[in-house]
Amino acid sequence: MKIEKNKSLKKLNTFGIEASAGTFAEIFSVEDFQDLLREEAFSGMKKRILGGGSNILLTGDRDGIVIKNSIPGIAVTGETASAVVVRAGAGMIWHDLVMWCVERNYAGLENLALIPGLVGAAPVQNIGAYGAEVKDTFEGLEALLIATGEKVRFSKPDCAFGYRDSVFKHKLKGQCLITSVSFRLVKLSPGVTYRYKTEYGNVQAALEAMKVSELSLRAVSDAICQIRRTKLPDPAVLGNAGSFFKNPSIPAKEYQLLAKQYPAIPHFPQADGTVKVPAGWLIESCGWKGKREGAVGCHKDQALVLVNYGGAQGSDILAFAAAIQKSVKDRFGIDLSPEVNLF
Ligand code: FAD
Ligand code: NAP
Repeated sequence: MKIEKNKSLKKLNTFGIEASAGTFAEIFSVEDFQDLLREEAFSGMKKRILGGGSNILLTGDRDGIVIKNSIPGIAVTGETASAVVVRAGAGMIWHDLVMWCVERNYAGLENLALIPGLVGAAPVQNIGAYGAEVKDTFEGLEALLIATGEKVRFSKPDCAFGYRDSVFKHKLKGQCLITSVSFRLVKLSPGVTYRYKTEYGNVQAALEAMKVSELSLRAVSDAICQIRRTKLPDPAVLGNAGSFFKNPSIPAKEYQLLAKQYPAIPHFPQADGTVKVPAGWLIESCGWKGKREGAVGCHKDQALVLVNYGGAQGSDILAFAAAIQKSVKDRFGIDLSPEVNLF
C-alpha cells in the first residue's frame, strides 16, 4: 500500500481538474484495504474509491481519504467446451482485459474495446457501447464493505443493472469497494456458433472499409477502436469524461408528440415500452455543439461530451451542464440526468 498526503488528483481524472486529496492511498490487494481500515488514524475519515478517474467530476479538494484501486490479476476460473469464466482484478485496465479475451478467442467483451477506466468501475455504471453492456456477460463480483472490510459476493440480480446504472449508484453508493469482477464468455472454436453484434451505428461500415471478409473478435474490436479514435476526443489531449449525460428514455406517448413537432428526432424503442432519444441530438438541436464558455465547452463533434480546455473547475463544468439541461428542458420538456459521478 502507498499512502501520500495532499496529493494532486489532476492527473488522476480525465477531465484534468485540479483538486487534491487530503490523504491518498493506493491499494494493491484485499489485505491492503483491510489493513487500511484497521489504522486508527483513518478510522473516522470519509473514504472515496477511485479507479481510472474517467467518469468522475471533482468539485473541490477532498478531505478524508481517496483510495485508488490497483488490485491486479486475471485468471480463468471456470471452463467448459464452449464457455469460460474470466475473473479480473478491479485495478486492471478495462481495455487490457478486453484485448486479453480477444487474443484468446473468448467472445463477449469485444464491442466494449477502448472504453477508458478500470475493471472495478465497469459494473458501477454497467458500461455499454455499440449494442453491448457489461451485464450481458457479467457472472459475478467480489467486493468489500467500506465500513467494515467484510467480503461480499454479488450475483447479477444483486447488482440491479440498468441502462448505465446499477445498485452501486443508488442503494450501495459509496459503500462498496469492488475487488474483482467475473465474466462468462463464449469460447470460440469450430462448431461453436456466435452472433457478432455489428448492426449498431457505423460498425458494419467500418468493417467494410477495413475490407473484413470474415468476422473475428479481432476485426470487430479493431473496427470499434478505429471508430472511437476518430469520433471521441482523447482525454490526454482534451480533458473530458465521455458522455456527460445519459440518453433519456421517455414514455412512447411523449415521444409521439415530440415526433410530430420534430420529425427528424432519432429514436430507439426500448424493451420496457419507452423510447430512447439520443441526448447528443437534443443538445445539438439547442445549439450547444462546439459552444465554449471560458475553459468549458461542448465538443465540436460530440455534443454529449463536455470538455475542459484547461483550467476549468468542477463548478464551471456543473454550471455549463446546468445551462444545457435547462435549454433541453425548455425546448423538449426532457430532463437530462448526468452520467458522470460527482466525486
Ligand atoms: P472512475 O471514474 O474512477 O469512477 C467512476 C465511479 O465508480 C466513481 O463513483 C467511483 O467511486 C466508482 N468506482 C470506481 N472503481 C470502483 C471500485 N473498484 N469499487 C467501487 N466503486 C468504484 N462509459 C461507457 O459506459 N461507455 C463508453 O463507451 C464510454 N466511453 C468513454 C469515452 C471516454 C473518452 C471517456 C473519458 C469515458 C467514457 N466512458 C464510457 C465513461 C468511463 O470510461 C466508464 O464509466 C468507466 O467504467 C469508468 O471507469 P474508471 O475506472 O475511470 O472509474
Ligand atoms: P452514435 O453511434 O452516434 O449513436 C448516437 C446515439 O444513438 C447513441 O448514444 C446510442 O445510444 C444511440 N444508438 C445508435 N444506434 C443505436 C441502435 N442501433 N440501437 C440503440 N441505440 C442506438 O453514438 P456515439 O456517441 O458515437 O457512441 C457510440 C457508442 O459508444 C454508444 O453506444 C455510446 O453509448 C458509447 N459511448 C459512450 C460514452 C460514455 O461516456 N458513456 C462515450 C462515448 C461513446 P447508446 O449510447 O445507448 O448506445
